[in-house]
Amino acid sequence: MLAATLTTQFVTAPKAHADGCYTWTRQLSQGMSGADVKQLQIRVAGYPGYGAHLATDGEYGPATAAAVGRFQTAYGLGSDGVAGDATFRKIYELQDDDCTPINFTYAELDDGCGGSGYDGGPLSEAVTKANALQTMWQLQAMRHAMGDKALNISSGFRSIPCNRSVGGASDSQHLYGRAADLVGSHSLCALVKQARSHGFGGILGPGFSGHNDHAHLDIRTTNYWSAPSCGI
Ligand SMILES: [Zn+2]
Repeated sequence: MLAATLTTQFVTAPKAHADGCYTWTRQLSQGMSGADVKQLQIRVAGYPGYGAHLATDGEYGPATAAAVGRFQTAYGLGSDGVAGDATFRKIYELQDDDCTPINFTYAELDDGCGGSGYDGGPLSEAVTKANALQTMWQLQAMRHAMGDKALNISSGFRSIPCNRSVGGASDSQHLYGRAADLVGSHSLCALVKQARSHGFGGILGPGFSGHNDHAHLDIRTTNYWSAPSCGI
């Protein structure tokens, strides 16, 4: 009976403003799988724990439960690692109708050479854009952890010609929509240090060649961290 009551409450919960993006229709917990799990994983990809990376594979395993728990703690919700009504309601609050987190936009991360859009890279536009979306959710987690102060993006996705023109590495994560360069607001060392807890595998900053004026973060899933001036 209790379970039935909870289910009813979940289904009848008031819908939030941002359901134009995505609406979850069932409570999710460890052992479940599906497209709805993957949608959840993208939203909590910034909470994998220090130095870790959350797979967005649609399988709700222990790492996903732990990430949901950290998300819940970050927003003052009861931390049980189960994504139910309160968790989804918070996610709805945090996302816009195009599924970007409220403090970031696709336009902030698109073609870094003054163009727009996500075409012209080695991957399809759709995949590149999906990478940018996950990058934004990880940035949103980091932004919240740093007191909700703005994170200023100086460069995101770069098309192949754009990357070439700025002298980017030939395999730059910027080409794939997986990277963001940050400037200002916080010190660069504060940014690169905090990024370690939000799933960023690529972290380059002060003291690393060419990175004394920005913090480079990307969502590769092996850790390549270097910011010698910050002790990293
Ligand atoms: Zn960069």
